[in-house]
Amino acid sequence: MTAPRIEIRLDDIAHNTRTLVERLALRGISVCAVTKATLGSPEIARVLLAAGATSLGESRVENVESLRRAGITAEILLIRSPMLSQVERVVTHTEVSLNSEIGVIEALSGAATGLGVRHGVVLMVELGDLREGIMPEDLPSVVRRVVELPGIDLVGIGANLACQNGIIPDRSNMHELECLATSVERQIGTTLRLVTGGNSANLDWALAMSGATSGVNHLRLGESILLGREPTNRAAIDGLRTGAFTFVAEVIESKEKPRTAWGTRGQPAFAVGPGEGTDHPGSEGHRTSRRVLVAAGRQDIDPAGLTPPAGHRLLGTSSDHLVLETSTGTPPEVGAELRFGVDYSALLRAMTSPFVERSFLHGSPPRSQG
Ligand SMILES: *Cc1c(COP(=O)(O)O)cnc(C)c1O
Repeated sequence: MTAPRIEIRLDDIAHNTRTLVERLALRGISVCAVTKATLGSPEIARVLLAAGATSLGESRVENVESLRRAGITAEILLIRSPMLSQVERVVTHTEVSLNSEIGVIEALSGAATGLGVRHGVVLMVELGDLREGIMPEDLPSVVRRVVELPGIDLVGIGANLACQNGIIPDRSNMHELECLATSVERQIGTTLRLVTGGNSANLDWALAMSGATSGVNHLRLGESILLGREPTNRAAIDGLRTGAFTFVAEVIESKEKPRTAWGTRGQPAFAVGPGEGTDHPGSEGHRTSRRVLVAAGRQDIDPAGLTPPAGHRLLGTSSDHLVLETSTGTPPEVGAELRFGVDYSALLRAMTSPFVERSFLHGSPPRSQG
């Protein structure tokens, strides 16, 4: 098998989806599964839908088009505000988009009427995290304008927290969203299909409730489904699997070397990240250590998001190399494969890199090596 590659355990993704869909159904919440970290992988999208996600969420039209080309017909929400330059593609390939600019919604209206289709709009409201969203006091005037636009259906309102400033979704801001939904419904005289409360960071709030919410009926979940973790503290979510993705790369050098670099020092190729060091003098009197070079780097993976295998420590990274120190009894030889855990950032980079092969696994994980 070729390396570097990302191994994808579809059963784990199905398990996580099913578990969250069931738990949230008890709270009256449906799940839109967010595929953006998978580069719009149709293999993963099919698993998400089969496991109970009612729609898919994507932030990029290009990924949506890959899903459509692969024959995925489920409802897809564009979860990033459409670019004006892409409105025709947006109304052609997605049913719904999340919006915060009236000019964009007008352009969607023009594109939809031109193509003879209808497009659903969710109005995003700013609730304090300061990324996308209409200021709450401006919502009534935007609603008034949107409901007049031909080709456009106002299908919901929503919010996104945690991504920009780490603002945590809680009873207070979710209550504010529910009140805004109620006032929009009063204003337009019909109920909104979607009150979409947020992303994986909403799970602590949602799962703490004993019954249905008083309005939020939809969440857009990526990280929690794919990695089994809650993004505001990266804690594993009870009952979910955290190992659906493994990054595998191949050893290209394995040698005992001095622990301290020598010669005149300038800057290394890349700034040294937390927990990394280009070298380190041995504290216990060891002057040398076993160092392995792995054929993968920043063009394949975000090194800060890698968890090296047991007995290995990441010393440094450049475009195409990972340098590790190993303390295992039998150090990995040239040609051996090392297996790394990934966080969301490392996953995103691996799925986006043309150098990283995807390997889809069904059933139980292979024994860990190295
Ligand atoms: C990325 C994103 C999501 C999904 O976020 P996760 O933390 O991966 O669950 C949901 N909504 C919007 C608007 C997003 O950009």
